[in-house]
Amino acid sequence: MKPILMVDLATQYRKMKAEMDAAISKVICSGEYINGKIVQDFSLDLAAYTGAKYVIPCANGTDAIQIALMALGLQAGDEVIIPDFTYVAAAEVIALLKLRPVPVDVDPLTFNIDIKKISPALSLKTKAIIPVHLFGQCSDMAPVLKIAKENALYVIEDNAQSIGSVYTFPNGDRQQAGTIGDIGTLSFFPTKNLSCYGDGGALLTNNEALAQKMQMIASHGQSRKYYHEVIGCNSRLDTLQAAILSVKLPYLNTYIQSRQKVAQAYNDALKVRADLYEIPECIPASTHVYHQYTLKVKQNKRDDLQKYLKEKGVPTMIYYPTPLHKQPAFRGVIRIGSDLSETEKLCKSVLSLPIHTKLDEEQIHYITDLLVNYE
Ligand SMILES: *Cc1c(COP(=O)(O)O)cnc(C)c1O
Repeated sequence: MKPILMVDLATQYRKMKAEMDAAISKVICSGEYINGKIVQDFSLDLAAYTGAKYVIPCANGTDAIQIALMALGLQAGDEVIIPDFTYVAAAEVIALLKLRPVPVDVDPLTFNIDIKKISPALSLKTKAIIPVHLFGQCSDMAPVLKIAKENALYVIEDNAQSIGSVYTFPNGDRQQAGTIGDIGTLSFFPTKNLSCYGDGGALLTNNEALAQKMQMIASHGQSRKYYHEVIGCNSRLDTLQAAILSVKLPYLNTYIQSRQKVAQAYNDALKVRADLYEIPECIPASTHVYHQYTLKVKQNKRDDLQKYLKEKGVPTMIYYPTPLHKQPAFRGVIRIGSDLSETEKLCKSVLSLPIHTKLDEEQIHYITDLLVNYE
């Protein structure tokens, strides 16, 4: 059996080596390493894939959230609702812009923001909500949009983990994650479902004015060369990374399918141990692209199980071990939006298993046998 890895990007590369090497070498030979046609073409391809009208490439997923917030013209002290159980990026850039992160608890079944806890968390200063589509499925966007509309809030979808996930509205309309709110953000960090060989990110929007503003902000606030209309930043997707992403984008749907197959195999095998594991739930309104396959381990056995699996050669990860509201950096910075008890419980019970496009049946069996027989 091949060694089991959390993600296996080297094997993925070997399967498309000739195509990838040609694309990389074309960029290097062209002498054009910043912007240019390759970046434009990737943006158009990504717009076609996601259905977003406008795609603005940028340097990484954290910058994407920052640029989105900068484009909304918020005032210092304005509040932004975020889930408490998430990666730090959104909270960090909210705070950097002198806005106030307001963490709200998540639904323990889906790991996404708990809709019921959003409205009571709003104040007169609340100006935006950043739902994070965690682990591969959309937050429940119909009620998020309703709350946003009733309270004149912007919605930025942190879609670093769920590119390709599709949300179905009650009226049957279907939209891709990241194209539902005012702005959606993406990360192409190597471990994400669509990833490059370094850092990369993008912003999605259907709003032309916001698209122009974000384009300008990502490019030093320039509306034309050496003329700076607003304070911006320097956030570009390297041409080399755009070329790499252009090779991979046509494979994204098959990557998603192979992740879904692994998840199904895990689900099928582990349901016999409902005494010990809660398998990840899907909401009917969203497809799941399984950026992570995250179990909840009962009976306080998570840490022992993780150690045991490690001894047996199975890597696992804890996304995330510490709630946002317990991070020292955010002490005195956040306003707590709701009770955060579900997040606290999740941080003690979640365990993410290896899931990637090159995990084979033998490896999956090995992992599930260990889990099913664990005492
Ligand atoms: C990875 C990730 C980010 C940040 O992306 P980078 O490209 O690493 O800056 C933001 N939010 C979430 C939920 C992520 O998983």
